[in-house]
Amino acid sequence: MLTKASNLKTSVNPVQLYRAKYLLRKFTVLQVPILSDNYAHVLVDNKARCILAVDPADPVNVLKSVYSKYEKSFAFTSVLLTHKHSDHTAGNKYFYNHFSKLDIIGSKYEICPYATKTVGDGDVLQFGEATLRVLHVPGHTKGHLAFFVTTPSSSNPPILFSGDTLFVGGCGKIFEGTAKDMYYSLKILTNLPPETLVYCGHEYTLSNLRFALTVEPNNEKLKSKLKWTIQQLNNQRSTVPSTIGEELEYNPFLRVEEEEIKVSTGKNSPIEVLGELREMKNNFK
Ligand SMILES: [Zn+2]
Repeated sequence: MLTKASNLKTSVNPVQLYRAKYLLRKFTVLQVPILSDNYAHVLVDNKARCILAVDPADPVNVLKSVYSKYEKSFAFTSVLLTHKHSDHTAGNKYFYNHFSKLDIIGSKYEICPYATKTVGDGDVLQFGEATLRVLHVPGHTKGHLAFFVTTPSSSNPPILFSGDTLFVGGCGKIFEGTAKDMYYSLKILTNLPPETLVYCGHEYTLSNLRFALTVEPNNEKLKSKLKWTIQQLNNQRSTVPSTIGEELEYNPFLRVEEEEIKVSTGKNSPIEVLGELREMKNNFK
């Protein structure tokens, strides 16, 4: 299944319409569902005819999706890795063995198998006419990276590949960092422009929003996002991407200063609220 403009029905909300228009422009994001609930994302520069993949842990499916839509002359130039976990990096060996000119780019703060190049916070990568800024966002793993993509045309909204740090309606499990790390990492991401499209690494939206409703039951934006999510999933459609602006309206991990969420967690300082929310979500069924 690919998420693309042609999949969108006419009864879309304004945000979807905006995305659909965007997808018809020079850059395309292909979304490839892989493994049980991961997303690999493929950024295509249609003018420069080059292709970059983020976390393509199932290379056969990713390549099949790409080349069912694009000619073989489109050059695969890079694999970007948000972090070291195998459901994001399991494709590296295949890409390493089959694409001699391909860069496999991982975090310099942790070891990603078969990475041929490492990058860190503030580094800038050029891809066709797109610029990718590397953001170090520890918490899920200590070396986790996010990639912020902008293009010269101001009519294209920026893109964020957030991996397992920011999800639609939630955040990643804190495996290697602290609640404080995750709090500051999420702050970096929410300081990006509100129209930034958030492409995350998993389809976790339904569980995230159901949990969110238990800690902020009076949030109307949250209720309508949950309703939309159920519709999307019933129609075998992805709930990713969202935008930073949307996330700020319903994602409890970005709303740790809201009174209702403080009361639900029994905590007061933003970092303690976030830590408690993460604990509660870990135990949420
Ligand atoms: Zn992970």
